[in-house]
Amino acid sequence: MPHGLIVPGRPPRPSSQQRSGPELQEECGLFGVFGHPQAALLSYLGLFALQHRGQESAGIAVWDGEYLDCEKGMGLVGEVFERAEVAAWPGSAAVGHVRYPTCGSSDPVNAQPLVVRTFPGTLALAHNGELTDAGRWRADLEQKGAIFQTTSDTEVIAHLVSRSGRNEAGEALLDALGQVHGGFAVVVLSEGELFCARDPNGIRPLSIGRLGDAWLVASETCAIDSIGGEFVRDVEQGELVSIGEYGIRSAQFAAPGRPALCAFEYIYFARPDSDVQGKNVHQVRKELGRRLVRAFPVDADLVTGVPDSSVSAAIGYAEESGLPNEIGLIKNRYIGRTFIEPTQEGRELAVRLKLNPLRQVVKGQRVVLVDDSIVRGTTSRHIVGLLRQAGAAEVHLRITSPPYRCPCFYGIDTSSSAELIAARKSVEEIRQAVDADTLAYQTLSELTGALGYRADQLCLSCFNGDYPVPPPEGATSGEGRGGRQGGLFSGS
Ligand code: AMP
Repeated sequence: MPHGLIVPGRPPRPSSQQRSGPELQEECGLFGVFGHPQAALLSYLGLFALQHRGQESAGIAVWDGEYLDCEKGMGLVGEVFERAEVAAWPGSAAVGHVRYPTCGSSDPVNAQPLVVRTFPGTLALAHNGELTDAGRWRADLEQKGAIFQTTSDTEVIAHLVSRSGRNEAGEALLDALGQVHGGFAVVVLSEGELFCARDPNGIRPLSIGRLGDAWLVASETCAIDSIGGEFVRDVEQGELVSIGEYGIRSAQFAAPGRPALCAFEYIYFARPDSDVQGKNVHQVRKELGRRLVRAFPVDADLVTGVPDSSVSAAIGYAEESGLPNEIGLIKNRYIGRTFIEPTQEGRELAVRLKLNPLRQVVKGQRVVLVDDSIVRGTTSRHIVGLLRQAGAAEVHLRITSPPYRCPCFYGIDTSSSAELIAARKSVEEIRQAVDADTLAYQTLSELTGALGYRADQLCLSCFNGDYPVPPPEGATSGEGRGGRQGGLFSGS
């Protein structure tokens, strides 16, 4: 296979300017393997389990003892890679990445892993999250002559590694990661070692597992399970883990800050079969549903969750309320999030193809509709409308998280707060905007209670504006990334 090949998959999606409205950024998914003869195949399978974290591009880099090769392209894992080809790809260490970019950065050049030839050797970097100081670093490095090939802030790490003056990749990574700030998880493959690290606040998750004698690293434990591996532990805050022929080593690139795992991992991003920091996502979501019943009871006939992210919460709601948990909406899983239509008519059809109400279930019924979040309000308005068209007598919307008021600076481009409906409107105004009969959000204390953390152990900044890492210079919570930078730097 040619080295460093970028395989064109589907053509890139239209830029944000061409789209009807900005897409929300999903998380990215990381998967690493060390010490297995089929490292590429395992990465490919692991990425399938992480596909929900990013559907824009997929990539795998492999070390075969002589070369560090990388293939990546736009599209889903199954679109970018042929299983038979991946299975024939030699090498015992690999790193894989699935990505969903910020607005305007839907460019094949930003697909990861990012392969770079640095002073300490060739590296393949895969990154989930965002560096809050990427803009400052980039300006600084460019002024000193650095030439950037991508608009991804992952490249900042590559430049800092190369400029560290260290000739061992692990030493150089310790140095580079110690200089950047933000919410991030990284997995890096070098010529013979696999590294993984988590930001000092642990905002983004990253877990280590084993498969026989091989080591695995994954954004979520569901990917470790899916290939038959065993969870070992989570990467710690500010920790750089090195895996090589010597085994596994740990070092701190920065002292741990206050713990600040992203609460949205539990609420929306992670798969229900993942354990995030030892807590099962399905169980947590069920508890979120239960607490909504106790705090905001309502007379109704049935409960239904918006598939897929709110199915667990609806089960909890039904258990606590005694209402039947019904399938009120069917999601067509074969239409990717990348299904973009240029016309309004086409978009409406696409949305309708994706989600269809079960008329026989909801007709004449008072429906409790459980969803995980309202960001811009378009989804809720659409779904409430679908249920009404299908004959629902009442629609009571219950949101498992508090109002999403502030932009995220740690890898989820919720754009500017101007686009966040809860930043502009009261709960009653939102209820009217989405046309629900009643609307209730989870309170912050019920959220932290359900998650089993104290408020100062989580990142809740999208709800309360309390940022564990200072936002980028010049950014205000009123501006957000989209407004500030127009998507110049993409989180991953
Ligand atoms: P909207 O209110 O239309 O902007 O979309 C909210 C819906 O998108 C919710 O039902 C969530 O399930 C989902 N969602 C929340 N956050 C994100 C995100 N960062 N990326 C993609 N979808 C999201």
